[in-house]
Amino acid sequence: GSDSARERGIAYYKPARDSYSADRLTMVSELRQALENDGLALFMQPKQCLKTSRIVGMEALIRWPGRPQPIRADEIVSLAEQTGLIKPLTRWVLEQSLALRSQLLDRGWSLTISVNISPNNLREPDFPIFVQRLMNSYHGHQGAIIFEVTETSMMQDPGNSLKALNSLNATGIPVSIDDFGSGYSSLSYIKQLPASEVKIDRSLVTDLATEAEDRVIVQTTIDMCHSLGYRVVAEGVEDHGTVDLLRDMGCDMIQGYLLTPPLPFDELLAWLGRNHQQPDERKLG
Ligand code: C2E
Ligand code: MG
Ligand code: MG
Ligand code: MG
Repeated sequence: GSDSARERGIAYYKPARDSYSADRLTMVSELRQALENDGLALFMQPKQCLKTSRIVGMEALIRWPGRPQPIRADEIVSLAEQTGLIKPLTRWVLEQSLALRSQLLDRGWSLTISVNISPNNLREPDFPIFVQRLMNSYHGHQGAIIFEVTETSMMQDPGNSLKALNSLNATGIPVSIDDFGSGYSSLSYIKQLPASEVKIDRSLVTDLATEAEDRVIVQTTIDMCHSLGYRVVAEGVEDHGTVDLLRDMGCDMIQGYLLTPPLPFDELLAWLGRNHQQPDERKLG
């Protein structure tokens, strides 16, 4: 996968300096084809509750398999955002997430799926209607899809983002503030967001065991989020020491390589069966 590739130091595609280069145009048309022909994949990364140790949900992360050179998710997304393909991409991710969640439910796993949303999606006038229709066409998934929006993307256009998030929230989709602590949002803005969850950015979590300053920032963030009524997820957790610190600090949930890197769906199923609690029997039909 791309993570082992990263470790081996394999070079990634870098957007060409000339954004109209032939390479880039080829790639855009290949991405469009991949979207039309099911050429993209969703990997899933589990999210664990620190109090109960149960897996409570997972995050859907886009992948583009079968490329000569691996392309990072944020590069796929930025290419899609620059070319109008982010609209069909996000819709494909949402449909695929619901389809995979149905398969999980069939096996007795009732887990939330978090989907990353681009600020461009928040500007699509028909996005809330699309979401509403999709949720209506799938039964038994109410409250199970969570939208992740990054703090930074919200701050590009705070007023309209807030409006868009409110109308999405009205369709019954919980909102999570992603990469919190990597941007510059004000507390007065954060408190207005119709969010139920905040994800603390990996940059604040990575050196928790060694950096006293990071511990102060993370503890303060957790306390503030709890006072405002948000659940708190720490992302990028890679070692047991960090888990112990986060548990002592009252953090609600963790995600990170310590549990597992993002996995293809079939590997996720195997991982759930191997490593974790049995499916909730009450939910087995
Ligand atoms: P994100 O939403 O903050 O997702 C977390 C990223 O951190 C993922 O990278 C994940 O693989 C990585 N990660 C998780 N645990 C660890 C860890 O313990 N250590 C380290 N070093 N990394 C960890 P990924 O999959 O490459 O995605 C990067 C970004 O691309 C995401 O950041 C998200 O902003 C964006 N993205 C991915 N899929 C989608 C999508 O379907 N739609 C949109 N709009 N954006 C997406
Ligand atoms: Mg995310
Ligand atoms: Mg994140
Ligand atoms: Mg992040």
